[in-house]
Amino acid sequence: MRVTPAALVLGLSLSAAAFAQPPDPTVTLLQEIIRLDTSNPPGREGQVDDLLAAKLRPLGFEVTIVPTPEPGKSHLIARLKGDGSKRPVLLAAHADVVGVEREKWTIDPFGGIVKDGYVYGRGAIDFKGGIAVFARAVMQLAERKVPLARDVIFLVEADEEGAQYNTSWLAQTHWAQLDCEFALNEGGWIIAGDDGRVQYVSISTADKSSVGVIISAKGTSTHSSMPRPDNAIFALSRALAKLSSWEAPLQLTPATRQFLRVLAKTSPQPLARYYQTLLTSADTAAIAAADREISKDPLMHAIIRNTVAPVIIDGGFRSNVIPGSADATLNMRLIPGTDPNDLVKTFQDLIADPAVTVRLANPSAGPSRTSASSEDTELYRALERQARTTFPGAEVTPYLFQAGTDAGAWRNRGVPVYGIYPYPITAEELTRMHGNDERVSIDSLRKGTEMIFNTLVDVASKK
Ligand SMILES: [Zn+2]
Repeated sequence: MRVTPAALVLGLSLSAAAFAQPPDPTVTLLQEIIRLDTSNPPGREGQVDDLLAAKLRPLGFEVTIVPTPEPGKSHLIARLKGDGSKRPVLLAAHADVVGVEREKWTIDPFGGIVKDGYVYGRGAIDFKGGIAVFARAVMQLAERKVPLARDVIFLVEADEEGAQYNTSWLAQTHWAQLDCEFALNEGGWIIAGDDGRVQYVSISTADKSSVGVIISAKGTSTHSSMPRPDNAIFALSRALAKLSSWEAPLQLTPATRQFLRVLAKTSPQPLARYYQTLLTSADTAAIAAADREISKDPLMHAIIRNTVAPVIIDGGFRSNVIPGSADATLNMRLIPGTDPNDLVKTFQDLIADPAVTVRLANPSAGPSRTSASSEDTELYRALERQARTTFPGAEVTPYLFQAGTDAGAWRNRGVPVYGIYPYPITAEELTRMHGNDERVSIDSLRKGTEMIFNTLVDVASKK
């Protein structure tokens, strides 16, 4: 290619301008946090707490670092005081991340590297990006001396990705410091199309719950040279085979119905039509056909019904002994309000084998006490308003989160929690979460910080 002098000059001035632009503070903070390896186990989330405490204290935040019995693992609670005329708003973000398959990454997962307009690294989406956005939003409240009608609490948590010293543990001893009128956490998505335009913002108002089920088969324990018909492993296999073709019926919560209405507007055909069928059709065959198409996406399959999956199988110990028993552990993910005992009964009837029993792993598990957080609160309305302002033309909808988060500590106490990963991402980028080459764009971090800052001004400032 021939390069004209004019193009050279233009190229030079462009790169000089790019060089002159000051780095975005959310980006810089995210880079710093990614460089602290908090893969859980063991987590060592205290590294992030120390980094943030040093930034928050000089801005006037009251900072408490709550140690756990495990060295290096702590929670950070930072409070920016308001005049107390309204109850606090809380922002929660977890500092631990899942581990990496390092050889599958093309870039150092703990390097905090910026490349081609993206910050790369483990946790960029889940949820160190969220820590950086929430931290910069609350820091700006302090930097700009926004007069506050309520305290703003910023919580950085340990053990969300697993292990015992999570927010449920913290809430038992430090509830007074976490109590609030409502809270923000991870959960819903700001989904951008391939053209970068935000299609919709989903704000999670409830999480599915996780419940374990044990299926046990009994048979005669004997020498493997003389097999008998009552073989425990065969009985367990038959039971699991029956379960593999079982599908829970459709169950659309009010939030899921709103979410499907948005998908019916924003999806390409024929998907849009399938969503419309689920919502409005009375034709059971058409609904079943639409469900089959929609459920090819495992995420959608999980949002519109309860699910069950075998996760552990256990039976036998040597080749010349037929074991007397064999067990399988199943993991159910349940829509709020579902009684797991009803599903145990359904499975028992389906399996219909006296040699096989079905029981809950935790016998006292009942229907989850948590109901969906109301959309009729100042925080939900502020977030909805600011999402529409930041991303003009985007649909905003509540959402049932298909997995669990650590929001239970608040929702179980009746405190509404709204979940959002506060930056636009594409469907392709979503697959990198808990995967390889996780990344978030610089522009998304900038817009997300703006949206969360404006939401906090909207909901917490003195009017
Ligand atoms: Zn997460």
